[in-house]
Amino acid sequence: MSAWAAAEGSRGMLVKKILVTGGAGFLGSHLCEKLLNQGHAVLCLDNFFTGREENIAHLRANPAFTLIRHDVTQPLTGVAVDEIYNLACPASPPRYQHDPIHTMKTSVLGALNLLEMAKAQGAKIFQASTSEVYGDPSVHPQPESYWGNVNPIGIRSCYDEGKRAAETLFFDYQRQHGVRIKVARIFNTYGPRMDPNDGRVVSNFIVQALRGQDLTIYGDGSQTRSFCYVDDLIEGFIRLMDSDDGVTGPINLGNPGEFSMLELAQKVQALTGARSRLAFKPLPQDDPRQRRPDITQAEQKLGWRPAVPLEAGLRHTIEYLRRHA
Ligand code: NAD
Ligand code: UDP
Repeated sequence: MSAWAAAEGSRGMLVKKILVTGGAGFLGSHLCEKLLNQGHAVLCLDNFFTGREENIAHLRANPAFTLIRHDVTQPLTGVAVDEIYNLACPASPPRYQHDPIHTMKTSVLGALNLLEMAKAQGAKIFQASTSEVYGDPSVHPQPESYWGNVNPIGIRSCYDEGKRAAETLFFDYQRQHGVRIKVARIFNTYGPRMDPNDGRVVSNFIVQALRGQDLTIYGDGSQTRSFCYVDDLIEGFIRLMDSDDGVTGPINLGNPGEFSMLELAQKVQALTGARSRLAFKPLPQDDPRQRRPDITQAEQKLGWRPAVPLEAGLRHTIEYLRRHA
């Protein structure tokens, strides 16, 4: 805690003390970096289930950066903060399905513990929710008003229902206790610092292509996703956190460009120059057929829209994974 206390003392009143849970993960590490660049003091909390030391190694020397190993299922005491970004939760299907009970606890108990902390300290709190709250959507594209189509007992439910319950807790703490909340529904995001082994489609295809292996298409590859580059997303996080208190969300953050997995595979093949073939594998249970955000609210309330096209973002990601996979 000493670096944290030092940063607090030396930086004056305008600097915010910001807790980022899941800060050693893919998105969390980019968020910590951006907040530090803005001059804030950042407390990065992580249990390192899917987070990696190498994601934050370049931040460790900064006196305004403090790392704490902690699991959000346990209450966090002895830390005073102005803002909380709650990103702690594995996001890749194989990873969140590895210990589904702990995934559910992470979303629900994590939200409870952090909301209690926000309530006690008058801190503003951001929740990294997900497009998975829409499940396998029957409305397309998905606006925030859509209530979703989620299997409550399937293999994805620990994640989908955990995130839905967390949203419920956020809105109940806002109504019952006046906690200032910000809920973002994040659509598939990719970029540097994705774990080459975490099993999500963008990292899988790129790593397979770079190794000359077959690209694994689950199902017939006609299912769609909308891929947002990480820098665009993090800009959206901070705009949402900095918005007026009346802007609570839930608000979709994602890139409306929609691609089938076959189209994605072809782009990765072209950009890597790989001679990999396509290997068709069984479609996982409850895999959503289609996914595209309606971002009207983000455009109107945050003045936000993604700027990085898929090919440019894939080039950056390929460059990163060439060096790290
Ligand atoms: P990630 O797996 O790289 O990062 C999650 C981080 O949370 C890791 O560092 C992990 O170690 C940590 N963590 C997990 N359980 C924890 C616990 N119980 N206590 C403390 N730390 C814990 O995933 P990501 O892509 O960076 O996602 C970050 C957040 O954004 C997650 O909450 C995820 O659900 C949400 N999200 C991400 C995407 C995406 O496409 N990347 C889409 C929708 C929502
Ligand atoms: N997918 C695939 N090959 C892979 C990994 C995933 O075809 O090697 C598919 C997966 O079935 C899903 C889509 O790609 O339809 C996105 O999967 P990901 O795990 O990245 O995210 P999510 O399913 O949570 O949107």
